[in-house]
Amino acid sequence: MTPLHVLHEPSPELRKVAAPVLDFAIVDAKTQELIDALALTMVEENGVGIAAPQVGASERIIIIETPSGVHAYINPEITSRSVRIVDSMEGCLSVPGVSGIVKRHSSVKVKAKNRLGEDVEVKANGLTAIIFQHEIDHLDGILFIDKATKLTKDVRSRL
Ligand code: ZN
Repeated sequence: MTPLHVLHEPSPELRKVAAPVLDFAIVDAKTQELIDALALTMVEENGVGIAAPQVGASERIIIIETPSGVHAYINPEITSRSVRIVDSMEGCLSVPGVSGIVKRHSSVKVKAKNRLGEDVEVKANGLTAIIFQHEIDHLDGILFIDKATKLTKDVRSRL
């Protein structure tokens, strides 16, 4: 398997609202291959998260590096958000060489399916909470630069 090509802003693919994966399609070979290829691409690019639209697949699939390892989340939805907001310094594999500060919830609860098609619920804090918010934004065609203040040129491009 080879890593996929990561699209860069201003690709129109990055601005589409991605379609949900149908329950029965999660375990399809095609979806499983996409998940594996996304995870490989994330690792190759030194990322900590990646969303399917970043490789031109308009499907609601994200891969996140969490404290317990690299996991795929399919059709993720944020079901609750902390009141507390933090300033997050972010970059993005699709916006190379730029970083900026984004206001994010310090913790979130996320409901999704795992790659076996099972229901999962995750309570995420710290960096993991931020990665979830950043990657789920990708599924709605939103990039961190839409929300960021103080954009600067930077080498950090990890989400
Ligand atoms: Zn990103």
